[in-house]
Amino acid sequence: MVGSQDERPRIVADSTRPTPTTGADDVIAALVASTRAALDQARRPLRDVVAVGCSAPGPLDHERGIVHVAPNIHGFENVPLAARLSSGLDGVPVFVDRDTVIAAIGEGTVGAARGVRDFVYVTVSTGVGGAIVADGRIVRGATNTAGEIGHWPVALDGPRCGCGSFGCVEAFAGGRNLAERYGSRDAGDVFRAADANDARARALVGELESAMEALGVGLVNVLNPSLIVVGGGIAEHEPTHVLEPMRRGARERAFAVASKAVRIVPAALGADVGMIGAVVAARQRVAGRDPLAV
Ligand SMILES: [Zn+2]
Repeated sequence: MVGSQDERPRIVADSTRPTPTTGADDVIAALVASTRAALDQARRPLRDVVAVGCSAPGPLDHERGIVHVAPNIHGFENVPLAARLSSGLDGVPVFVDRDTVIAAIGEGTVGAARGVRDFVYVTVSTGVGGAIVADGRIVRGATNTAGEIGHWPVALDGPRCGCGSFGCVEAFAGGRNLAERYGSRDAGDVFRAADANDARARALVGELESAMEALGVGLVNVLNPSLIVVGGGIAEHEPTHVLEPMRRGARERAFAVASKAVRIVPAALGADVGMIGAVVAARQRVAGRDPLAV
């Protein structure tokens, strides 16, 4: 990617490949190969690269670039991802951060939340996640897991969630859980069946909407943001089932003064949010700046 410090990075080449599930060594080799392939495509030598940004699933330590665990990849535990990628890329500095934090940095600098000091980024996709920005700073929490709003419990006796708990927003609204509960391969099947008046699909989509509504109320009451940016494949394809219930909850059930102050809007950067956010985050960390202080 190229572009000056504060402008939206422009994607000049990309190289994608499936994430190997066979362990950290294979994942790192694939990341290095993709990076080198994209550089070849762009006809830029590695020595021109100032830094690399990397968006990774958490939990992770962004300061040391260590991913504590990637649950879907066998043996991916406490991997020093930044250091190992850097050594595969001739020592170019690599900066790693959590995928939702990277997305919030992208949306907060060059996307839907540009210039907004108090916002929440929410993604509703295979899973549900988020990141919190308060007074212009990412809220990290004690262990850098703050903002995991997908695991906010919204039902006292709800379905089991992949995190080990139950009744989480993700248990209702995450694409994987939704499809599993319906017995289909894909969350899209559930929405299509609901549109065709299938009673079971309609009930599940209704529960998803209730979960999103409760999340909207909770975020507005607890964090008092001026903006909630909602991204992810399900939010993008099914805004009436995701954004609308959040807005309804904020409007009808949250504190009136907080409710009046908040807008709930779709994300602006779409599927490129990880790449764009990673570049913005890397630029800022190279410059020694706080991620969102643009
Ligand atoms: Zn959970």
